[in-house]
Amino acid sequence: MLDSILGSLRVVALATRTDFRSITSREVALFEGPVGWGEFSPFLEYSYSESVPWLTSAIEAAFVPAPPALRSDIAVNATLPALDNPAEIQALLETYPGCSVIKVKVGNDPGKDRERLRIIRELRPDAKIRIDVNGLWNVDQATSFLNSVGDIEYAEQPCATVEELRELKKRTQIKIVGDEVIRKAKDPFAVDLSDAVDIVMLKVAPLGGITRSLEIAKHHKLPVVVSSALESAVGISYGLKLASTLPSLDFACGLGTGSLLAVDVDQLPIKDGMIEVTDVRPDISVLNKLAASNERLNWWKNRIRMTWSAGAESYIYERGWNV
Ligand SMILES: [Mg+2]
Repeated sequence: MLDSILGSLRVVALATRTDFRSITSREVALFEGPVGWGEFSPFLEYSYSESVPWLTSAIEAAFVPAPPALRSDIAVNATLPALDNPAEIQALLETYPGCSVIKVKVGNDPGKDRERLRIIRELRPDAKIRIDVNGLWNVDQATSFLNSVGDIEYAEQPCATVEELRELKKRTQIKIVGDEVIRKAKDPFAVDLSDAVDIVMLKVAPLGGITRSLEIAKHHKLPVVVSSALESAVGISYGLKLASTLPSLDFACGLGTGSLLAVDVDQLPIKDGMIEVTDVRPDISVLNKLAASNERLNWWKNRIRMTWSAGAESYIYERGWNV
């Protein structure tokens, strides 16, 4: 199977519209299997072992039929990086037509963060706002921000550790979403989220695919939100597929992040705040146009071989996937 993955492998470099995670170009590896296309796109600095779930997710997408869909369209939120310029904020919001929930990156500077929220509330007084802190605050900083921020839907990963989140929960009424605390855990099943987290963030690639994401959701018995990891349309379509198979889905999902890319391998248009669940099969001419250099292709091939040996192969064997 490794040979068939490497044989059909395409690597594309997608320019981003704005600086996100300090990234201005998102490199992703794509391959085709009997079921569809898979995307392998751990961020460049991730180790082989941290990349294992990303590879098993991509292989699952390409080789294993997904469970039946329970919904055909997924409500998505607008995702705003830490922008400060009102015109830039407004321009980016316009790329999310009909989205009534806005997720805002905060955490680096409380003054600028408050001002960003003020601008957004002024531009979109009816929108629901959620914030993502990526674990940047200590408990005191989180308490003081959350207890003076006004009405927000929830705060995603306000502090880094489960212990801090548990302490924070005693001090604020605002709902807490766990993202890194699950996604970066060695074993997402072993994390005790009780009295620490109200909602679990599911990201299909870092959690190892649809099967494992559904198991993680079931294990923690908490409401879930599905979000992307800034993937291309291929990876996003797999996140949409996960969202379509969840027994219940009460929140808009962070799967509209195609708006953060200046170019993509295919289009997944947002219409009235929703994206339709579809199989993305990128056009070869588009893949050729966006192709990264041969040197990068070889770098990714090697990364896949190393990630395969670092745990992806044994995971697939344990699952009994007939691939
Ligand atoms: Mg997050």
